[in-house]
Amino acid sequence: MKRRLFIAGNWKLNKTAAETSQTVADLKEKLADFNGTLDVALFPPFLSIAAGQAAAEGSPIGIGSQNVHFAESGAYTGELSAAMLKEAGIELVIIGHSERRQYFGETNETVNLRTKASLAAGIKPFVCIGETLQERESGNMETVLKGQIVEGFAGISADQMTDLVVAYEPVWAIGTGVTASPAQAQDTHAYIRSEFAALYGQAVADKVIIQYGGSVKAGNVAELMSCEDIDGALVGGASLTAEDFSALILNA
Ligand code: PGA
Repeated sequence: MKRRLFIAGNWKLNKTAAETSQTVADLKEKLADFNGTLDVALFPPFLSIAAGQAAAEGSPIGIGSQNVHFAESGAYTGELSAAMLKEAGIELVIIGHSERRQYFGETNETVNLRTKASLAAGIKPFVCIGETLQERESGNMETVLKGQIVEGFAGISADQMTDLVVAYEPVWAIGTGVTASPAQAQDTHAYIRSEFAALYGQAVADKVIIQYGGSVKAGNVAELMSCEDIDGALVGGASLTAEDFSALILNA
């Protein structure tokens, strides 16, 4: 049985608070007749979150954070805790995006700690996993993904698996315009679900929401979403304008 789709937009380092207000207001208008058959969220930069929340009020658009630290407090210059996000009304957070892994030293272990801190605070983590082109081409894709799953989800309970979202993003498809073919994406999603089944049993694995990410747009979303094990999308470039993102959502 197909799970409820979750379409999320990761704005990365884009959009001031003023730009966020405008884009969210435009998106809200474009989604006025949206029938609510799937979940929608946007992840602006920290300082634009409040503007996004205000503009999204009364709409189905959730507003989340692109990062959170695992410590409750302490000597971690530049970081924010899960309790701080929660106090600011933030209930969704992206964890372990490949750009964070590549440029900011995130590891499976820090992803695991951040995921646990978020769940403990009642914030839904969107935990990102994915292989590089070199890992795929050298035949190591499954080993890499398995490591990200086994280490990244260590100590997370079966019940918690339905409080989070997994985002599979092949690094080679992010921002490149190259999308995994629906068949490639489906195969990998099925593999990822089988690893969750090995850890938690099939019944739990069948409930886990697994998004696909990497050059998803209005023109390819329907085919990707029709795949049995693909339960939504984490979208970068095509979430930046209300026109593009509403078209993508309505086509999903
Ligand atoms: P993209 O980014 O849609 O621009 O490829 C996806 C992501 O990084 O989440």
